[in-house]
Amino acid sequence: MTSPAQSYRVFARKYRPRSFAEVIGQDHIVRALSAAIDKQRVGQAYMLIGPRGVGKTTTARIIAKSMNCLNGPTVTPCLECPPCVEIERGSDMDVIEIDGASNNGVDDVRGIRDAVQTHPIRDRRKIYIIDEVQRLSGQAFDALLKTLEEPPAHAMFLFATTDPHKIPETIVSRCQIFEFRRIREVDVQAKLQFVCDQEGVVVPSEVLAAISRGCRGGMRDAESMLDQLLATSDDEVTLDDLESLSGLARPERWLRLFEAIANDDPRVILLEIAGFLEVGGTERDFVEQSVDALRDLLHVALLGEDSIGVEPAPERKQQMVELARTLGRDRMEGIMGMIFSLESRIQRSPLGARALLEYTMLRAARINQFFELANLLNNDGTVQAAVTTPPTSRIAVAAPQPTPTPKAVPKPEAAVPKDAVPAPAAAPKLTFNEMMAQLTKERPTLAATIKSYFITAEKTATEVVLILRQANGADLSVLEDPVEQRALRELSFSPLPWRIEFEVPPIIPVNPTVESLVSEFDGQQEIE
Ligand SMILES: [Zn+2]
Repeated sequence: MTSPAQSYRVFARKYRPRSFAEVIGQDHIVRALSAAIDKQRVGQAYMLIGPRGVGKTTTARIIAKSMNCLNGPTVTPCLECPPCVEIERGSDMDVIEIDGASNNGVDDVRGIRDAVQTHPIRDRRKIYIIDEVQRLSGQAFDALLKTLEEPPAHAMFLFATTDPHKIPETIVSRCQIFEFRRIREVDVQAKLQFVCDQEGVVVPSEVLAAISRGCRGGMRDAESMLDQLLATSDDEVTLDDLESLSGLARPERWLRLFEAIANDDPRVILLEIAGFLEVGGTERDFVEQSVDALRDLLHVALLGEDSIGVEPAPERKQQMVELARTLGRDRMEGIMGMIFSLESRIQRSPLGARALLEYTMLRAARINQFFELANLLNNDGTVQAAVTTPPTSRIAVAAPQPTPTPKAVPKPEAAVPKDAVPAPAAAPKLTFNEMMAQLTKERPTLAATIKSYFITAEKTATEVVLILRQANGADLSVLEDPVEQRALRELSFSPLPWRIEFEVPPIIPVNPTVESLVSEFDGQQEIE
C-alpha cells in the first residue's frame, strides 16, 4: 500500500500548495494578499507569523511566484514559466531562501545588504525569504534594519517566524504582518483524505481523524504522520498502529479515563495512565491529548453534540454526550485547570512526571468535593440557606466502609477560635475565593496548605466548618503558628463563624456508581 520507492517524496512536499487556491485554512491572508497583488499595492516587507507547519514558507514561495511569474504580477501564477518552476524547486537566482537558524551571523546579513542593491538577474523582483527570522543575532538585526529603512524598489523581504516577540520592534514595525492560524481539524482531515485518494491508499477515517486531532493545527505534522504510518504498516492501518507509532492515544482511551475520573475509580485511572505510557506516549503527550479530549467533552456540554469537530463514530458520540452530562461543566473546567497546572509542574520536575500525572488524575477524580464549597457559598459570600445535610458524595464515599462514617476530628489547638470571627449578623468582608486570593498573596504557605488539604465545607445552623484532610505525613504546622492563625482570623468569608477541622479520609471505594455522581449534581441543583 505504500508508494513505489522510486517515486517517493514525502507527502508534505509532494502535496504542498503551489498556488493561493490550494492554501488551506488561511483565507484571511490569501484574501488580503490577493487584493494587494490585484491592486498592485504590494509591500516590500512582510512578516508571516504562526505556529510551525501551517504554511508560512509555502505562502512566501507563492507570493514570490505571484510577483515574478512571467505572466505577473498575478494572483494566479502560471506555475509553468521558468521563474514559477525555479521558485518551486528553490533554484531561482533572484529568490533567495535563508534559514535564520543556520545563517544568523551579522556577516550573512551584511552580505544581503550589499547584494540587495544589485538588480535582479532575470526576475521582476529580488526576493529574500528568511525563515525563522527570530533566530538572527542582534547585530544581524541591526544590519537588516538599515536595509529595511531604505530598500531598493526591486527588493522584497518575506520573513517567517514562530516567535515574533523575539524580533526587535524596529524590524516588525517596518513589515506588514500576517498571522497564520492553526488549521481546523476538518480541513486537515479533508487534505489527508485527498492525499490518500491521490496515493490510492485506503486509511480508515477514524485514523485520519485521530491524526487531524493530534497534529494540533499543523498540516505538515499531519502529513508526516500519515507518511510514516503508511511506510511502517503493511496491512490496513489502524488506530493501534497510530498509537504505537506516534503516541497518539485511541479516542476510547480518553473516554475510559474520564469515565473513571467521573466514577472516582482509581484502579482504572492508574491502568489507563500506564497503558498510555507503555505504548510510547510521554507524560507531556498525555497532558496535551487529555486536554484536547476534555475540551471536546466541554464543548459537547456547552454547545451540544454537533460541536464535535471531527465526526466520531456514532456509538462514541453517544458515549461522549453521556460522559459530558455526568461530569458537568464545573467539574470539567476544574479538571482542565488541574491539567494545565500539571504541565508546568512536569516541566519543573521531569523525573517525577509520572507520579505527578497519577496524583493529578487521582485528585481530579475527587474534584467534586472541592465544588461542594462553591455550591455551599453564594458569590457574595453568604451561605445558602437550605444546605444542612452532608453532600451526597461523602455519603457515597463512606457507605462501603464497614466501620462507622469517619467523623470530623476536631483539633482544638489548630482550630481558629469561634470568638475571633465576626458575629453572625456582621456582613462578610470577603467571599471564600477572595479570601483565598488574599491569603495566597500574604500568607502563601498557609494558603497552599489549606488548598492542598481542603476537602469540603459544611454549614450547620451556627457555623461553617472547613474540613481539611489529615493526610499521613502532611506538614500542617503552619496552621498552628499563632502569626498565621491571626492572619487567618482577620479574613472572613462568611457571616457565620467558621473554623477548621480535620478529617481522616476513608479508603476510596473502588466502584462508586456514575449514578451517585449524577444524582449528586442534580441534588445540589434541587436544593437551590
Ligand atoms: Zn509563471
